[in-house]
Amino acid sequence: MENQDKEIEVILDLISDVIGKPIRSYDSKHQYLYNCPVCDEGQNKGNFEVSLVKHLYHCWSCGDENDKTHGPLGKLFDVFGTKKQKKLYDLIKPDELKVNDVFYPKLRLPEGFITFEESNPLHIPRNEAYNYLMSRGITNDMIRKYNIGYTIKGDFANRIIIPSYDVDGKLNYFLGRSWVKRKIKYKNATAPKEEIIFNEHLIDWSQDIYLTEGVFDSIFLPNPIPLLGKHISNKLFTLLYEKAEKDIILCLDGDAYKDSLRLYNELNGGNLYNRIKMVKLPYDKDVCELRGEIDKYYIKIK
Ligand SMILES: [Zn+2]
Repeated sequence: MENQDKEIEVILDLISDVIGKPIRSYDSKHQYLYNCPVCDEGQNKGNFEVSLVKHLYHCWSCGDENDKTHGPLGKLFDVFGTKKQKKLYDLIKPDELKVNDVFYPKLRLPEGFITFEESNPLHIPRNEAYNYLMSRGITNDMIRKYNIGYTIKGDFANRIIIPSYDVDGKLNYFLGRSWVKRKIKYKNATAPKEEIIFNEHLIDWSQDIYLTEGVFDSIFLPNPIPLLGKHISNKLFTLLYEKAEKDIILCLDGDAYKDSLRLYNELNGGNLYNRIKMVKLPYDKDVCELRGEIDKYYIKIK
């Protein structure tokens, strides 16, 4: 326990270096209130809460609208600190507090999951699903490489399932994409996205790495990592920083140029300086529509 108190002290010092000292603290709950670096403007309101138990921060005044002022604690260092402070934080965050207090049950593939390889080619739903994949340009090789399957049962019925496995080959996530028209196209595994590196077991850190928003885009590229959104998780940031040996190419959708620039600026420093490349796609294009032509869309950032 004493040890943990020390670690907390170090983290609090680090946070203070970034956004100033807390103006109130609830030590028993490991909760601390700071003046918001974005909206306080000298009013000393202390609306900016940091929870070391939940590993989150949130400004009660502007955090709902402002993407910068809420998120996992590691992001606080991305947004307001330096790369060095971020690295230091990752080194010192104590194990006991690393665990999010949300409980995630052990992940399994959805009920009725079957791979295309194993399934009967005469089965009608199988063919609907298969034809959908073909219509999106997905090949048999991709289906095999990613162990893509589908199910017609349970909560994920009539969805194509793309599983994700961690470094040890253990299932850590899956994506479910409906092949029939319905309101909610995607229904994914319940798992902490911040902790997941999609199909980490397939990543070759010695080669160029392509970052995309979604999983469907990623499978058209060599050596991809989907962000599962427009933001980079602390975990992925750290892994790229420490393990990527070649270039990192940002391939966000055509309508996400601003997000792409933000990511570029987040990543282009330290070890990774000058190794971030950016692709600017036409506004209405996704990565999967450009197969093999992605090099044409590299742009220079000044
Ligand atoms: Zn605020």
